[in-house]
Amino acid sequence: MQILVGTNNKHKLKEIKEIFDKELLINIDWLIPSQLSDEKLEVEECGSTFAENSKIKAVQFYDKFKIPTIADDSGLIVDQLGGQPGVHSSRFSGENSTDLSNRNLIKFRLATMGVNESTARFACVMTYYDGQNLIQAEGFCEGKIINEERGSNGFGYDPLFIPDEYDKTFAELDPETKNSISHRSNAIKNLLKQLKKGIFH
Ligand code: IMP
Repeated sequence: MQILVGTNNKHKLKEIKEIFDKELLINIDWLIPSQLSDEKLEVEECGSTFAENSKIKAVQFYDKFKIPTIADDSGLIVDQLGGQPGVHSSRFSGENSTDLSNRNLIKFRLATMGVNESTARFACVMTYYDGQNLIQAEGFCEGKIINEERGSNGFGYDPLFIPDEYDKTFAELDPETKNSISHRSNAIKNLLKQLKKGIFH
């Protein structure tokens, strides 16, 4: 079975494929957008929830390539920042945000509040869409944000996030450990429970 991973983010792509392949016994022929077209599909994430943005991505990638598609929308929710950056996680520090500028803004905001850490969670909604069936599932990973960078694995806010029951950041943990507890992994496990009932047999 062919499945398109509807993302241009190479880090997410790697994680999604690794988590699926570990959880699923059937062989998936994974496709990525850059294999199918030189033209990059830029999806405007105009929804106000992870679920809306995840659906927008899955539907737009499916409509372009007509291949069953899996897409995610994810982000970081920091309690001391009133839930920010949330759905704006990828562009938290403005138009030209980078992972580093986004992390710097988190650290700056926490520092100006005089706090060293905050409880936080990563959230992810995964969507499967094949032109007929639209299936969504969510996953979370609880933890805390610290205001110093630690580790060099992963991407995004990983160097600032320590998951509950660990004393290392996502960027210090090996990828297998991150992939076994992450929001993306929990969303994929929840999605698979639904897909195994009908789509994948
Ligand atoms: P989007 O889902 O493409 O809108 O982007 C989500 C953003 O949330 C990413 O650009 C990262 O900044 C952040 N994010 C989502 N998942 C993770 C993760 O597993 N580790 C670190 N940052 C993440």
